[in-house]
Amino acid sequence: MPDSTNAANPPGQGGSSDSLLRLIADSIPALMAYYDVPALRCQFANQGYAAYNGHTTESILGLTVQQAIGDKAWQAIQPHVERSTRREHVKYTREQTLPNGEVRMIEVNLIPHFDATSAQLGSFVLITDITERWRAERQVRQSEERMRKFTEATDEAIVFHRDGIITDGNEALTRLTGYALQEVVGVSIFHFISPEWRAVALDYTRTGREDPYEVTIRHKDGHAIPVEVVGKTMPMHHADYRIVVVRDITARKQAQEREAFIALHDTLTQLPNRHFLMEQLSQVLSLARRRHGRAAVLFVNLDHFKTVNDSLGHHAGDQLLCNVAERLRQGVRDADVVARLGGDEFVVVLTDVQGPDDAARVADKLLESMHGVFTLGQVPLTVSPSIGISLFPEHAATGDALLRCADAAMHHAKDSGRGNRQFYTPSMEASAIDVLQHERLLREAIVDNAFVLHYQPQICLEDGSLQGLEALVRWRHPQRGLVGPDEFITFSESRGLITPIGRWVMREACRQLKAWQDKGLALVPVAINLSALEFRQRDVAGEIAAVLRDTGLAPQYLGIELTESVLMHQTGQVLDTLNALKALGVGISIDDFGTGYSSLAYLKRYPIDSLKIDRSFVVDTPGNPDDVAIVTAIIQMARSLQLKTVAEGVETPAQVQLLKDLGCDLIQGHVVSVPLDAEALQRWMRDFSA
Ligand code: C2E
Ligand code: MG
Ligand code: MG
Repeated sequence: MPDSTNAANPPGQGGSSDSLLRLIADSIPALMAYYDVPALRCQFANQGYAAYNGHTTESILGLTVQQAIGDKAWQAIQPHVERSTRREHVKYTREQTLPNGEVRMIEVNLIPHFDATSAQLGSFVLITDITERWRAERQVRQSEERMRKFTEATDEAIVFHRDGIITDGNEALTRLTGYALQEVVGVSIFHFISPEWRAVALDYTRTGREDPYEVTIRHKDGHAIPVEVVGKTMPMHHADYRIVVVRDITARKQAQEREAFIALHDTLTQLPNRHFLMEQLSQVLSLARRRHGRAAVLFVNLDHFKTVNDSLGHHAGDQLLCNVAERLRQGVRDADVVARLGGDEFVVVLTDVQGPDDAARVADKLLESMHGVFTLGQVPLTVSPSIGISLFPEHAATGDALLRCADAAMHHAKDSGRGNRQFYTPSMEASAIDVLQHERLLREAIVDNAFVLHYQPQICLEDGSLQGLEALVRWRHPQRGLVGPDEFITFSESRGLITPIGRWVMREACRQLKAWQDKGLALVPVAINLSALEFRQRDVAGEIAAVLRDTGLAPQYLGIELTESVLMHQTGQVLDTLNALKALGVGISIDDFGTGYSSLAYLKRYPIDSLKIDRSFVVDTPGNPDDVAIVTAIIQMARSLQLKTVAEGVETPAQVQLLKDLGCDLIQGHVVSVPLDAEALQRWMRDFSA
């Protein structure tokens, strides 16, 4: 290129430096020419420039610009050329279509050439092909455009920042944060992140990590928004930008919290479940240990809950459990734990007790609170819980062991007539070995017929006459003497041993009554108890018919006692059996009536003779008005269905008077006689009739 200060010599003329210049000019990848001013005649052109315009380096010399490049091109560039003749350095870009149709982008520089006195002698023309760069830039522009379109279209908030300072953001970002874009641009991203999360975000930003992470940001109105963010580093405009996608994960967090809650709580009552209970219990115990404090575990089980479920349906059962959960929760302090293990089993942990008296007081309060009537829809219902209590550190040191102790005590409470509370004592816990031993002895008892029946009289309230006997089985235990049915009936059911026991009871009761009748005694029916399982498993009607035939007892002298739950199962089969028994002339009673039951529907459907009002309703009369109301209602209802009523567990003269006033038909209980063995009962009957 000619030196513009050496302006006296236009390029392309004279000597060996000329040929070198020409060589260079023809070799560089640019078009080059020199026109004088003001005539604008070509003084020099490299090969590229001349050829591009259809000339040779010689033929182009002396042509004006217009002649050199043609009219059409001249029209397009004339204003630029004119500016360049007025001493201006002009630079412009222009699309060029090559003869082969290809479109190139060129950059044209028109550089004025002055002499030493600053007079303009001419202009250099320098044309470079910038198609590649132009394409690359266009691509960047398009991708920026695309990015903008994308960031606006997406629901995810997107923020651009450089070294933590926000440079841009999209619509969704302003929707998410409540800030307008101009409020965030120029501000540090950390300003929007909750303080406790800043260190994490800083770490990710500094190290350029690109995996997603979670932080909490603050909305303009101050509320916290859990978000997941993914940052990507993007080289752009010669700097590293971070593009960060911010995703609102409030819904996901809520779902996770809900899941965590469900994992630790019972879905029905929302109380902690067993898992959570054990966690909390272990915390309570470690705290108590540190402080040399004490704690109590109450195992609460509803009596006869199954009957509610069976007779009123699961929906009512669920409702009842929720009500019970609430009463338990209300009955203890906030610091105490109330949990549901499943079914009708609840556990209360008293976190701070001074001793057994405190625990007893709370248990009594809970018993009291549940004694009131629950209303399920239209149906009033009473519930009695049995509560077992274990104490830390007296009874056990671990949560598991305390729970086991309380469970054993609860079973003891059930055995002690339900609706009460019992403290754990070591004798309550049967070991696995004890259970095996129990089973072995029971099997031996069956082989040896080591059972005995006691009979309890039922008398008429109106005239005081003997109206019936109930046969109650006992086990002659080799070590323990007589053992009551509560200790082995359910157990033998679970071991498949109930059938031989039940058969023996049936045959023995019929044989004994026939023997008495042959002596002119006991011209009243004897009732035997049949558990729900026996009723399901055995051909009760067929067996009874056979036993009556074998023993010669007249059918009207035999009765059976069934619990309500029997009637709730497979109604068709039950109805057939009961009809068959009825046809034989055998009496049918519903035992333990009122424990959770309230529907009249099935009573009408079955051929039933009498209802036995459960002892739990009688025991607190006449003092407890709720119980008086329930007993009254049962007697009224039985009357309207033309059923006889028998009150169980009558112990006091005041109860006798009340039941008489209420129109109850028969009573059975210690006030008349405890259950007696055959010999003793025979004496009792002789004295009674005398
Ligand atoms: P249940 O049929 O309701 O029998 C009444 C229970 O109440 C008897 O308990 C009886 O001793 C007791 N009892 C009667 N009067 C009074 C009283 O005034 N005060 C108190 N506190 N209790 C009184 P037992 O003999 O321990 O029988 C318990 C349960 O075992 C019976 O309840 C019955 O469901 C079942 N059972 C008894 N014998 C048999 C049997 O041969 N087969 C079957 N499957 N179950 C039987
Ligand atoms: Mg009974
Ligand atoms: Mg009963």
